[in-house]
Amino acid sequence: MESGTAGTSTETIEALNGAEAPAEERIEVLNPANGNTVGAITVDSPERVAATVARVRANQADWEAMGVEGRYHWLGKLRDWLLDNSERVADTMQAETGKVRADTAIESIYLTDLINFYGTKAAKFLAEENVRPHSPLLASKKLSVLYRPYPVVGVISPWNFPLALALGDAIPALQAGAAVVVKPSEFTPLGLAEVVKAWKDEIGGPDVFDCVHGTGETGGALVDEVDFIQFTGSDRTGRRVMARAAETLTPVSLELGGKDPMIVLADADLDRAANAATWGGMYNSGQVCLSVERIYVEEPVYDEFVSKLTKEVGKLRQGPDGKTPEKDVGAMTSPNQAAIVEDHVNDALASGASALVGGKRVAGAGDYFEPTVLVDVDHSMKVMRDETFGPVVGVMKVRDSEEALRLANDSRYGLAGSVFGEKEPAEKVARRIDAGAVNVNDVIVNYIAMDVPMGGWKQSGIGFRHGEYGIKKYTRPGSVIVTRFGGKREPTWYPYTKARRGLVGRAARAFNARDLKRRLGIGS
Ligand code: NAD
Repeated sequence: MESGTAGTSTETIEALNGAEAPAEERIEVLNPANGNTVGAITVDSPERVAATVARVRANQADWEAMGVEGRYHWLGKLRDWLLDNSERVADTMQAETGKVRADTAIESIYLTDLINFYGTKAAKFLAEENVRPHSPLLASKKLSVLYRPYPVVGVISPWNFPLALALGDAIPALQAGAAVVVKPSEFTPLGLAEVVKAWKDEIGGPDVFDCVHGTGETGGALVDEVDFIQFTGSDRTGRRVMARAAETLTPVSLELGGKDPMIVLADADLDRAANAATWGGMYNSGQVCLSVERIYVEEPVYDEFVSKLTKEVGKLRQGPDGKTPEKDVGAMTSPNQAAIVEDHVNDALASGASALVGGKRVAGAGDYFEPTVLVDVDHSMKVMRDETFGPVVGVMKVRDSEEALRLANDSRYGLAGSVFGEKEPAEKVARRIDAGAVNVNDVIVNYIAMDVPMGGWKQSGIGFRHGEYGIKKYTRPGSVIVTRFGGKREPTWYPYTKARRGLVGRAARAFNARDLKRRLGIGS
């Protein structure tokens, strides 16, 4: 165990077998809190990806045949394993992400809730539908719609919530009856590998769930092999994934980046709004797709809000955390992201913004960026336009809610947002934000409100997770039309004769016309 931070378990490293792979096929996983190596993965070649997909594909029919309850039985075992091993999993993830303990622990909690949510709701969400024919001409038919899974779903996931996002998408796909292969981020593969190993060795789950490792090349190979791709990551990579999937006409669901606005109305509870902005902007070091990144505050309360926000952000404790939560803000998980955050802040400062708190990278071991509040910002600056994905918020003063809305909607992203103020007026404003989810007097909470869909509008994505849609998307509607009665042939079949044609024409006219004259064919 590394000093100062929770470390990964040796079992994980052995499980991945990375230490035995030739150097060119290995990726070392570093702890961003201190730069130490915590494990390694073996990169999967396109051939190995194809073989993995073929193997789980061969077992998928039996998994589907188990039905919703049979699959929940196994996913319930995964829930129990996560509950029984939450500390072990948190150790691994803390070591590979550099998060503080509290930000790590939340992942398993979300996943156990998600397993129960879909386990108990899947029967309703995926129930076969029996549909009455819309036309008397189809009266002899029994119509049914089945929701059959895509045989193999590929999940490609990012590094910011390595388990919640990878498993969070795998679980509804498995519950729907698909086999699943996950490609986690190359920066944070260890936690997921540990869970997959447990599914195989400790839980003894059916061989319909596996992972493959590597960079974009491995991800691309997965896109080529599967029947549906669930991608979470940047919009830049999302475009590439979609283009690659077009080659095989593979459907995609894309959960991409955000630049979520927060609007603070003059009648808001400013303490709650400032606390929410602090947590919503700095949680997980701002590496949350639903982070508060831009704040628009009505003029009368701007000064007071900024003073409260600055005070709260200034109090945050940053640094390597142990197993007992003692810090609030952890490391930047990916070194690339730390460079983007630095670039956005420097761009803003060079263009006239001021940092009331923070504003720079922290010197020394580990990859940290100071929790930062920027004012005097505008939409010409990257920090208000592009996804920063770091512990930084930009605050702007606005005349009124109309100006706030105009600025909030002035973005190519549309993932989520929030409005603080008296309930009714705040809700009115919330309903006009162009985003997939808007929270009133709260932030990020839509992610755990899994009853309702969560997904991006505009360039924040295509498709949604959670709710009924979040499991149905892993299925294809299949219609079955059963003829309950009928003679030797239908009137529309061969041979074509004047009499049969006339009968069909008259019946169709009688049913389709909406006035008596046309129904009887008078004057035509
Ligand atoms: P990324 O796009 O760099 O990588 C995501 C995954 O795609 C990784 O596993 C990566 O290896 C893989 N990949 C890279 N190139 C690929 C290619 N050509 N083909 C197939 N796969 C490829 O994203 P990231 O930096 O890991 O994550 C941060 C981003 O994720 C942010 O933009 C954040 O907003 C977004 N995100 C979105 C949500 C959401 O639900 N909307 C949730 C979390 C994170």
